Amino acid sequence: MAKINDYNFAGKRAIVRVDFNVPLDENGHITDDTRIRGALPTLKKILADGGSLILMSHMGKPKGKVNPKLSLAQIKDDVAKALGTEVKFAPDCMRASEAAAQLKPGEVLLLENLRFYPEEEGKPIGIDKADPAYADAAKEMKERQKEFAKMLASYADVYVNDAFGTAHRKHASTAVVADYFDKQDKMLGMLMEKEVQAVDNILKDIKRPFTAIMGGSKVSTKIGIIENLMDKVDNLILCGGMTYTFAKALGGKIGNSICEDDKLDLALDIIKKAKEKGVNLVLGTDCVAADSFSNDAKTQVCPTNAIPDGWEGLDAGPDTILKFREVILPAKTILWNGPAGVFEFDNFTTGSRAIADAIVEATDNGAFSLVGGGDSVACVNKFGLADSVSYVSTGGGALLEAIEGKTLPGVAAVED
Ligand code: AMP
Repeated sequence: MAKINDYNFAGKRAIVRVDFNVPLDENGHITDDTRIRGALPTLKKILADGGSLILMSHMGKPKGKVNPKLSLAQIKDDVAKALGTEVKFAPDCMRASEAAAQLKPGEVLLLENLRFYPEEEGKPIGIDKADPAYADAAKEMKERQKEFAKMLASYADVYVNDAFGTAHRKHASTAVVADYFDKQDKMLGMLMEKEVQAVDNILKDIKRPFTAIMGGSKVSTKIGIIENLMDKVDNLILCGGMTYTFAKALGGKIGNSICEDDKLDLALDIIKKAKEKGVNLVLGTDCVAADSFSNDAKTQVCPTNAIPDGWEGLDAGPDTILKFREVILPAKTILWNGPAGVFEFDNFTTGSRAIADAIVEATDNGAFSLVGGGDSVACVNKFGLADSVSYVSTGGGALLEAIEGKTLPGVAAVED
């Protein structure tokens, strides 16, 4: 695999998989351009070297069909503004050879939404998996995916993948296309490099103590990560809605709190494994309980294992917050995924805010802190603390799979 900073793009046409899946309002205007800004270092480096750019991305889930509401033509001018140069547009990804061939150094061509073509995702559409015809359709689609990827590759001399958000997908543009480039002509973009480095800091280059904070609503969606982290962390805080599955499993009364009744054994198993592995598992001991699921509900602080009937735990309590701070402040490596309460309600942000503040303090004292996964990112943004932690990941599913220890196809494809 080549390294983007060592590569000279002068006179080369670079096809770059970016993540321009930006949110649009009903008039097709971008409401948050973070993802476009995230790709700029890579794109500017290529242009500054004297290369030309072919940009490709998906937007939304058009499921293999053309959908004007998800056309990347809508964001062409925004990309041009961000890059400070004109951007040409190719309305058909399969017929962009001429436009690509005509690119001069410094010029930019944006391809239409890749997911307008079923070949991008490479899965048969409109056939149930149980249908006997599915296997043949899937095989045919894989062949079409290869052809599609080959076509994309033919537009350029070099391939760069800078779309971390889709790195966990084996799509034509994120992985298969890399097969058609030599080792020295495919690489990760700068954003991808930063994301991969951040995950390495968490999983490989660990400075101790390592405290992971897993929150959110359910234990079931986090179990893969919890299990992988169990071999690595010194302290594991489990907070948010999953607190009550643990409290109930341990025989507590949890009132109306959110609970996965079919995961009580799993919760006990996690407690047992933590003991066996010498991991300090930290669970909330008290909570802010509410008499309804609303911002204006009446509240009381009570033990997480003695919540009155009709009440539900919606945030971490004061003793819990102190316990969390005790293991976050001295940490030298910190991972935070998932809020400690229903942070969308302003009256139930205290626990999440306390975690964010403790992470910022620990970071100021030299810890490496990674915040990732949609809701914790929303938390640090809501608190205005995104610039005060070491790294805020742009990847949702991709980050979680990487932390689970899975190989990301988008990374593996350029490494091969
Ligand atoms: P997840 O997508 O699993 O990371 O969960 C994030 C969601 O968990 C957020 O929308 C929070 O509002 C929710 N959440 C956190 N704590 C609680 C709680 N105590 N009760 C219900 N939902 C919660």
